Amino acid sequence: MAEICLSNINKVYGDSFHAIRNLTFDIKDGEFLVFVGPSGCGKSTALRMIAGLESISSGELRIGDRLVNHVDPKDRDIAMVFQSYALYPHKTVRENIAFPLRMAKLPKREIDRRVEEAARILELTPHLDRKPGRLSGGQRQRVAMGRAIVRKPAAFLMDEPLSNLDAKLRVQMRAEISRLQKELGVTTIYVTHDQVEAMTMGDRVAVLKGGVLQQIDTPKNLYDRPVNAFVAAFIGSPSMNLYGAALSGEELRLGSQVIRLPGEVFAARPALRSSDERPVVVGIRPEDFDDASIAPASAEIQAPVTLVEGLGAETMVHLAIDAPWVDAGDPDAIAEIGHQRSAVGRFSPKTAVRIGDRARVALNAANLHFFDPETRTSIW
Ligand code: ATP
Repeated sequence: MAEICLSNINKVYGDSFHAIRNLTFDIKDGEFLVFVGPSGCGKSTALRMIAGLESISSGELRIGDRLVNHVDPKDRDIAMVFQSYALYPHKTVRENIAFPLRMAKLPKREIDRRVEEAARILELTPHLDRKPGRLSGGQRQRVAMGRAIVRKPAAFLMDEPLSNLDAKLRVQMRAEISRLQKELGVTTIYVTHDQVEAMTMGDRVAVLKGGVLQQIDTPKNLYDRPVNAFVAAFIGSPSMNLYGAALSGEELRLGSQVIRLPGEVFAARPALRSSDERPVVVGIRPEDFDDASIAPASAEIQAPVTLVEGLGAETMVHLAIDAPWVDAGDPDAIAEIGHQRSAVGRFSPKTAVRIGDRARVALNAANLHFFDPETRTSIW
């Protein structure tokens, strides 16, 4: 078991492509940490540097109390699980799981004991003498996990291990991996681009963008207290709705509507108070909208309905709010404020609103998020 410490880690590919910038954080012994972010943000690069499959351009990496920047991958005491599983098709499940132990030249009795223990934990015992070709995707994934756990490594590193599975199996396997990790108590770093996977599996989640760590926090804090508009929009599905707005005293002007903000909004966010009118980016989570005729709230707006999607347990209602939509993609690009886009509201399934209605929409104003329009950082 081990703590993993990254201190000012950088990765530069070629002469100048900075794939990872000053990555600094500690992963606690036994912790499940998830790296998440959009394609190309540097998740795999960061993981591969920790594994030793990619060199570190600068900075220090420690596993336990050892500086491992120049230690060979096989001597780092970690086990990797890839999305491709990388199983040997001509070997049985037993031989596949035993492989790393055979390479380490463990005695046969010890190998048998560990393989059988892993098979029991992973419910693979009935399949030990089969070849991978005769297993389902989920079973193959478990064999790959088995090969990682028999080594009793200090840490597991997993790179999108579920991306080859169908949606239902992913949900099942994600619960299995979480359970297994808790049972074994092994420090784990897990890479995914799927924010639901990140939120459900991680003790903490590290959100990366453009090679830069945006926030490392518990899933709840990422959701409730995102540091900037990028994290706010990346975490949560459907995404947070972001609009350019103006704040004047206790009134928020959102397009043609004026919303009076309750005092608790300012109590929780002292930096929001200002005597002059100031531009802000306001963030509204889909669940903070509802049908005002069913669920009255502290504030109400009116908006034309552009689409209604009934999902059974909830109804997604798209609302044409006449304020400029803000793209969270790039905090540096102020020019991205501007185009119109419907907001998504997660309404009660009892709603009777229809396309073309001008709906009375309840807004849970106490839960609004506010961002600086220039830096896109959260205002607290
Ligand atoms: P994905 O989710 O698409 O796998 P990722 O977040 O894992 O993306 P990385 O694979 O870490 O992203 O890549 C980060 C950036 O570094 C990308 O812009 C990628 O093009 C670049 N990159 C990765 N490997 C190399 C390489 N060997 N040489 C040059 N650039 C690279």
